[in-house]
Amino acid sequence: MKKLLLVVLLFVMSCAKAVDFSSLLLPEEEEIKIGKSYIPYAIEESDGLYPDKRVQEYVRRVGMSIARHTPRRLPYEFFVVNSDVVNAFALPGGPVFITRGLLLKLNTESELAGVLGHELGHINARHHAKFLEKMYAMNLLFNIGAVLLADKPYAQALLQFGQIGGQLLALKFSRDQEREADQLGVIYALKAGYDPSGLLGVFETFNKMERSSAPEWLQTHPLPQSRIKEVQEEIQRIKPSGSLISDTDEFQYIKRLLKETEGSYREFYAGKKAYRQKNYSLALSHFMRAVELYPNNYQARLYIAYILAKEGSLNKALEHAERAYQTEPKVFSTNYVYGFVLFRMGRYQESVQKLERAKKLIPDYADIYYYLGRDYEALGNISQAVYHYKTALELSKSEAEWSKDAYERLRRLQNM
Ligand SMILES: [Zn+2]
Repeated sequence: MKKLLLVVLLFVMSCAKAVDFSSLLLPEEEEIKIGKSYIPYAIEESDGLYPDKRVQEYVRRVGMSIARHTPRRLPYEFFVVNSDVVNAFALPGGPVFITRGLLLKLNTESELAGVLGHELGHINARHHAKFLEKMYAMNLLFNIGAVLLADKPYAQALLQFGQIGGQLLALKFSRDQEREADQLGVIYALKAGYDPSGLLGVFETFNKMERSSAPEWLQTHPLPQSRIKEVQEEIQRIKPSGSLISDTDEFQYIKRLLKETEGSYREFYAGKKAYRQKNYSLALSHFMRAVELYPNNYQARLYIAYILAKEGSLNKALEHAERAYQTEPKVFSTNYVYGFVLFRMGRYQESVQKLERAKKLIPDYADIYYYLGRDYEALGNISQAVYHYKTALELSKSEAEWSKDAYERLRRLQNM
């Protein structure tokens, strides 16, 4: 009897524990803070921000007009990223991203509203927050914010930060969650005055795309026929009436702007491919062509600056790095490459400024720590140099081209 009671008790306790886990509520401020901290990651993973402010401003305006009709009051933000992968995604607590590739596939403003509404649906149904709550329950996210805010975060916490980021950016939702986001998105878009069948137009385009070039959005957002049917049913249920926005001249204008730079981005991706194959002279010629076609293609300039700096053409490298930085001064990559070129030129104090800024944006990038170590060592700040070499070595998963040098410098400085 006693034994049975114990078994029952254990069962009840394990149930209580399970309930506890799923009801663990992530505070909204924490959700917002985490989402914000991964914006720089999302931007770099998507080949940077699209540099035309008219395009950014337009998508932001459409997005905000829909976000106004969502129940959660959050610091919503909308970004157009350069990637030619057909995709849209969101981060916890407000940030929404759409790729240049997806924008080019859309035909009308109401289709854009359908995509943004869907992503806002995920945020408002707390789908990302639920993922984070699971991470907390498994103690994977414990105090990560506090550790990162500390003056000198541990490499362990930095590695964890990167892992969570990778998972957040490739988050796959359940079919129920997709259905919920579709339903909510349709309602939000309608409340903002858009024809809610815009989302169906997007589905249609995706269905027509070749299997070989299946849009990324479908990998994270599977599109069975049932989903299309459910959206149709939802629209019939809410019976939209009155004059609804289907398309605008402005949408078509924005699309023309994007089309004008398509050639430049084709060259950019050809350059990236050659760069990965270590064919640097071919890569350089593609990147140069990309910049000729679209001088604000700052991503191409960064590659040019990096390649030229490694070849020792420092003054030319600096020109491109400076120009890229002026185009997009707030992103990780422009600060990093500018700082790297300044380091190569021996302008250590200026290099520290740029690299420290890059480090704040993405705190787990090993190379930044190595070059900061070099800067601080050259400036005679030995304790900072030691910390940065140590962290660089702990963060680099495989042998980096500077690993041996970092070890030797660290040993020498610690024996002083
Ligand atoms: Zn989705």
